[in-house]
Amino acid sequence: MLLPNASEAAASYDVVVVGGGLGGMTAAKRLADSGRSVLLLESHSRLGGYATWFRRQGHIFDVALHAFPVGMAKTLRKYWSRELGKGVMPLRRIRFENPEFSFTTTFEAGDFKRILRERFSIPDRQSDAFFQTCRDIDYFQGTGETVGQFLERHFPGRLDVARVLLETVTYATGANLDDPAMVYAIVFSNFTRQGTCSFRGGTDFLLAEMQRLLLASGVDIALNAKVRAIRVENGKVAGVSGDGFQAAAGVVVSNANLKATCLELVDMDRLCPSFAAEARAIPLSVSVAQAYLGIRPGETIPKIADILFSSREPRYNAAAFRAFPPKSISYSFYYPYCIRPDYGGTEIVASMCADYADWDNISADEYRRRKETLIRSVLDDLSRYLPGIDGKLDYVGAATPKTLERYAAHWLGASFGSKFPGFLAAEKLPSVIGGLFHCGSQGILMSGWLGSANCGALAAGKAEAFIVKDCPR
Ligand SMILES: Cc1cc2nc3c(=O)[nH]c(=O)nc-3n(C[C@H](O)[C@H](O)[C@H](O)COP(=O)(O)OP(=O)(O)OC[C@H]3O[C@@H](n4cnc5c(N)ncnc54)[C@H](O)[C@@H]3O)c2cc1C
Repeated sequence: MLLPNASEAAASYDVVVVGGGLGGMTAAKRLADSGRSVLLLESHSRLGGYATWFRRQGHIFDVALHAFPVGMAKTLRKYWSRELGKGVMPLRRIRFENPEFSFTTTFEAGDFKRILRERFSIPDRQSDAFFQTCRDIDYFQGTGETVGQFLERHFPGRLDVARVLLETVTYATGANLDDPAMVYAIVFSNFTRQGTCSFRGGTDFLLAEMQRLLLASGVDIALNAKVRAIRVENGKVAGVSGDGFQAAAGVVVSNANLKATCLELVDMDRLCPSFAAEARAIPLSVSVAQAYLGIRPGETIPKIADILFSSREPRYNAAAFRAFPPKSISYSFYYPYCIRPDYGGTEIVASMCADYADWDNISADEYRRRKETLIRSVLDDLSRYLPGIDGKLDYVGAATPKTLERYAAHWLGASFGSKFPGFLAAEKLPSVIGGLFHCGSQGILMSGWLGSANCGALAAGKAEAFIVKDCPR
């Protein structure tokens, strides 16, 4: 049931899910489908978390619907519905433009192999060995190798090739040459298995359908319900509370930011100081800034790409990716009747890695000025590909790391949650506090649309096993 207010929730549930991002929603659905009574509490007025959208001046903007691996089709089919799985659609024109190279790819491993052969003189057997190693790597293969060492091992002395293979992951997650090779290899391999995908129908349709399916599975949903505390008694979860509501539960699955879960919602310093220290030390992913551009009705733009990675950096340089004003920008193009078959608008969303510090502790005037600089930088860059784009727009807006932080309560506006230590800490969490599970935005692997949804399903499986063992009816 969609509760008008969290205070109207039942006194107790088998499970409370804190946060309705893709991870939290998937966990709630799985647990309800297993016959558990589930309350899903979302602090925002709408489900989705970062996977969200908004309307401005007749335009629809998808905030985080840029690209995900084809595996999302299986995840949607398995945990949601066959119809949602069918919505996953390939994006075929992924374009790179930078001082070192310029090409368009389908983003499949085979096409990268062709590009590496034709443009970078890399023999197929060398590319094959690289992609095979990426495919064979597994989560717990903690070799300690960094991305830089991994790429150097496969393509010695070829920073240009490293740029081809790494830059998109940097755009998306801020991952760089010092990050664990294993995380990069799994993410890149997932994306290049069958090329990158989007979702036909758009984020609005996906979320409406997910909410409908959650309610059909019997989940109680309360929006505008910010959880302030997860109650713990005798080392085990006892329930949650917020402003004007509380609910008892032996299991809580938190989809809130991992550090916030451990250090704000639970009094971890008192309950387990060593784990609190571990949680405090978890590094976060980079943040993101975005510019939203709406094309005036009646105007058209040529179909130059589905996604364009445009950089003015002479060489691969992960730190420079966060620079402000931005010099490396990825553009997602939403052409008429494409993502949404019945919608004729045209929008462009420009995304760039961003440092929270560049947007924090500045005056309102300075914040506004920086937003204007951000938009100006985007328009100057984009006009290299779409001359006269300025004159075709009837809406321009921007979001910053502060917007992200405000929207989904991720510390420092981290767009992909925590880095890899977060994944390990989340694995450990239920052994620190009985019945407390975390899902979504962990370690980049368990982040993004696919990772977070899968993480929700995994957390639900662990929660279900805990209920069967520890909370017999
Ligand atoms: C700008 C941007 C673009 C992106 N683009 C892509 C992309 O193209 N492809 C891709 O795969 N991924 C993309 N991502 C990443 C992807 O959107 C996220 O990794 C994923 O959606 C995170 O899902 P999650 O389950 O971790 O939940 P989140 O989205 O983090 O949602 C958590 C939810 O918990 C709620 N919450 C938090 N605290 C509380 C509380 N105390 N009480 C109640 N509710 C609470 C929040 O309001 C939020 O709704 C992008 C992210 C950003 C920011």
